[in-house]
Order: sequence, then structure tokens, then C-alpha cells
Amino acid sequence: KASWFSRLKSGLARTGSSISSLFVGVKVDEDLFEELETALIMADSGVEATQSLLTKLRARVKKERIEDASEVKKALHQLLTEHLQVLEKRFVLDQDKTNVVMIAGVNGAGKTTSIGKLAYHFQESGASVLLAAGDTFRAAAREQLMAWGARNNVQVISQDGGDPAAVAFDAVNAGRARKTNVVMVDTAGRLPTQTHLMEELKKIRRVIAKADNSAPHEVLLVIDGNTGQNALAQIRAFDAVLGLTGLVVTKLDGTAKGGTLAAVAAGSQGVRPIPVYWIGVGESLHDLQPFVASEFAAALLG
Ligand code: GDP
Repeated sequence: KASWFSRLKSGLARTGSSISSLFVGVKVDEDLFEELETALIMADSGVEATQSLLTKLRARVKKERIEDASEVKKALHQLLTEHLQVLEKRFVLDQDKTNVVMIAGVNGAGKTTSIGKLAYHFQESGASVLLAAGDTFRAAAREQLMAWGARNNVQVISQDGGDPAAVAFDAVNAGRARKTNVVMVDTAGRLPTQTHLMEELKKIRRVIAKADNSAPHEVLLVIDGNTGQNALAQIRAFDAVLGLTGLVVTKLDGTAKGGTLAAVAAGSQGVRPIPVYWIGVGESLHDLQPFVASEFAAALLG
């Protein structure tokens, strides 16, 4: 398997010992189920998803009279894959229009890095890309994006200390005028508790729609894979304000909390199971992968 998969796997397996090791040389009994339950909770899967998976696993083991621990592992992989399937969705660009993608998240989640990776990916697939430097608060953020754009031949629309909604508006108009395939609108990092900044996101969205009433076509939330259960609150808050169409989950190459996605899939704490279009598995431009439920389940189980 590719190296990103082993990075994902070793990241997700950091719960002390990998879940996979629990199946080695043991009897299929209540102890095993309890250890699995603990391991899934430790990986931040949440009580709801964990209970649901374990109930199904116990039932299947009983029904199929499974006596071999390695068969239990296969059954759990299957159940986890089915459970995560609701989050699997391919990100597709409409060839006939300028696809406007708005990107939000808390500071340090990996927005700028993910935008760089996505721009690279879209360009590799033959699409033209324009970026809007919507983080007008931090000059450094704007400069980072401009420098990145210059290195990779991607044009960046920015404004000195301007209004982020105006930058987004200009970028969408410019993208449409030039028939650019994708316009990605970066936004400054913010916390769900910063009410005025959350209101500002709404405004950016509204102003984008003034440039193109069908836009934004995608609204992505970037989440740090290390966030754990708090990711659910982030998803809920940003979704309420923006109406998210997808998630990008970063830093899965170095986290033990990958189970969080099982909680998202279960709709825990009132989240909608929003599709995970992409996962970040490293810091380089290539380290972005589509989310595939069966692969993710395999990595989580180690
Ligand atoms: P922003 O504030 O949301 O724009 O976050 P940045 O894009 O600046 O990322 C914050 C830090 O996380 C940087 O050091 C990135 O290199 C790092 N980072 C982002 N995505 C990944 C990832 O998938 N894996 C790893 N290991 N690091 C990442």
C-alpha cells in the first residue's frame, strides 16, 4: 500500500497499542468485546457510534458463530466500513462553470495548507484555479498565500486590509470573466464562539451569491484531525451558519483520534453526517487523499 496509508495507519494506531493487536492470540469472548469498546472510545469514536458498532458486532459473531478472533476483526472492518460509508462522497467539478469553493475553519486547522494541496490537485487534473485571500486580518496569512500562489503559478486575488467579502466578490467575478474552473475562497480562522466573526462568514457567503447566484457551490470546513470530540461542536456551529457541503480532515498522519469520524457518521451531538471529501495525511502538496470508508476503517483498525 502507498506510504500515505501507512502514515494514516500509524497515526490512527497511536492509542497505545493498535486495535489490531487486540485480536492476536485471544479467544472470542466478552473480554475481547470490552477491549474493543475501550479502544474505539479511546480513538474518540464517541459512545453512540461505539455502542452501535459493538451491538452489531456481537450480533454478527453470535449469528455466524465466529470463533476466530481474526474473523471478528474482518467483521468489525466490514461494519465500520458500512458505518463510515455515509461520509464517502467524491468531489466533482462541474466542467461547464466556475466552481466556487468557500473554505472555513478555526485557526491552525490546516486551511491554507489544504487550499494549496487542492489547488495543486485541481491543476494536475487540468483545471484552472484562482484563489481569494479572504484572510484579510493577518497580513502574514495573505502573504503566505500570495507566495504560495507565485511558486505554483496560481493567481491570488487579495486586498490590503480590505473587506473579506469584497475580496471574495472580486475573485468570483474575475474567475467567471476568465472562465476559470475553480475559485477557492479562503477565510480567516475563527472560533464558533466568536459570534461577530461567524456573522461575517454569513456575509461573505451572501456577497459571493451576489457575484453568482448559484455560488458558493461547495462550502468546506477544514478540521484538524486531532480535535477529537470537539470537532462535532465545530461542525455543528459552522454548518448552522454556512450550510456545509463537505469536510476536509487534516493531520490524520499524526493523530490517535481518527475515531471522531465514526462519531460524525453516527450523527452524534446533533451533527449532520457531512461528507468528508478529503483527508490530509502530511504537509506536502501530495498529501491529500479522497476519503474512502473501507481504507479509513482498515487504517483505524491498524
Ligand atoms: P490554517 O491556520 O487553518 O490556515 O492552518 P495552516 O494551513 O497554516 O496549517 C497549520 C499547520 O498544520 C501547518 O504547520 C501545516 O503544515 C500543518 N498541516 C496542515 N495539514 C496537515 C496534514 O495533513 N498533516 C500534517 N502533518 N500537518 C498538516
